Amino acid sequence: MNMRTRVGIIGAGPAGLMLSLLLSREGIDSIILERRDREEIEATIRAGVLEQGTVDLMTEMGLDERMKREGLVHHGIELRFDGEGHRIHLSELTNGRAFTVYPQHEVLKDLIAARLNEGGQILFNVKDVQLADISSSQPRIHFSREHEQSELQCDFIAGCDGFHGVSRPSLPEAEQHVFTRTYPFGWLGILMQAPPSADELIYAYSERGFALISTRSPDLQRMYIQCDPDDDIANWSDEMILEELQARLATTNNWQLRVGPITQKSILAMRSFVIEPMQYGRLFLAGDAAHIVPPTGAKGLNLAVADVRHLAHALKMSYTQNRAELLEAYSTTCLRRVWRAEHFSWWMTSMLHRFPDDDTFYPRLQRAQLEYTVRSRAAATSLAENYVGLPFTW
Ligand SMILES: Cc1cc2nc3c(=O)[nH]c(=O)nc-3n(C[C@H](O)[C@H](O)[C@H](O)COP(=O)(O)OP(=O)(O)OC[C@H]3O[C@@H](n4cnc5c(N)ncnc54)[C@H](O)[C@@H]3O)c2cc1C
Repeated sequence: MNMRTRVGIIGAGPAGLMLSLLLSREGIDSIILERRDREEIEATIRAGVLEQGTVDLMTEMGLDERMKREGLVHHGIELRFDGEGHRIHLSELTNGRAFTVYPQHEVLKDLIAARLNEGGQILFNVKDVQLADISSSQPRIHFSREHEQSELQCDFIAGCDGFHGVSRPSLPEAEQHVFTRTYPFGWLGILMQAPPSADELIYAYSERGFALISTRSPDLQRMYIQCDPDDDIANWSDEMILEELQARLATTNNWQLRVGPITQKSILAMRSFVIEPMQYGRLFLAGDAAHIVPPTGAKGLNLAVADVRHLAHALKMSYTQNRAELLEAYSTTCLRRVWRAEHFSWWMTSMLHRFPDDDTFYPRLQRAQLEYTVRSRAAATSLAENYVGLPFTW
């Protein structure tokens, strides 16, 4: 079966879905090819922190109804070390900007519903996706669906298929300039059915390692502890996890963790990764397909949204005004912001985690950095403006 569209999008994650919605607002048609089914996508627990810019974009696009109702707006975060909590007043330091906790799978439910309601095509459960002729003016995507081989002809391909997708490996090897860092620790993440233990997110540095108290809703809490990235989750009983959380978050004024049943637990590795450039011929990479950040800075989803906002605008200028320069500059434009977020995520990660190979000199540097961040308005402002998100055009 042969099909045709202007922009063929691979992947129905935040990048692919947001791109197709932005394009449709400009009258540019697209088709999304997605490997998984809708139920699985809408049930996968991942990110939860939306920068102010992401929230504003969803609002402008009329995608904010549930987010406004169910999302939790946060004006600060806590940095906790040596048994004391220190509030970073994000809004006061950034002219009223804030972030919203609204889970990624809820964002995806909203984006999928919006795209389907306007008659958009998302082909779920596709297999064997392969890109062809990406350096020509008529790139194609081959795929199979329900045992039928199909071809999608397009003007442009957007590779929005995440870190393990097929788009990035389709670039010629000589064009792939990769910059990467793997951290010697991972995060053990849990979902717990319990009320929130705090009004705001807590980033805790302790001699036993990093811990993060986050939230998903008034009844469901997300928490993480630093762990060995090669550890097996089967080695961690619920009791061990709770004990570790309590020990790492303990304060001199006897702060209490509110506990309940743990409904999900897993270990994720931490890495930084960037490919340059993010485009080749008629293929444009966006989101995790092009870059990964450790989750400490809560930037992954937000970077994906920023990329496709640039891409949608550049495609609009190309189609409506025959101006190709924004498309040509796509990679350079995105990478400026990507590297800023890479630095912030690396910086937060380096400040807050114990590094197994250095337990003398480095911890003292970390404590000095933490004290500087909570005592100096300039240092706190730097954290705040990065955390709530820098402007899309940076
Ligand atoms: C545990 C965890 C916590 C996180 N917390 C945060 C946070 O707090 N804040 C934040 O901003 N970010 C966070 N992130 C990162 C964030 O989830 C990602 O950066 C974000 O999902 C990237 O979106 P994307 O659309 O680029 O890629 P993805 O969400 O990975 O979507 C890619 C899509 O492409 C599909 N696909 C893959 N291969 C193919 C193929 N061959 N053919 C067709 N389809 C394919 C996949 O099924 C998937 O649906 C977190 C990530 C994890 C794992």
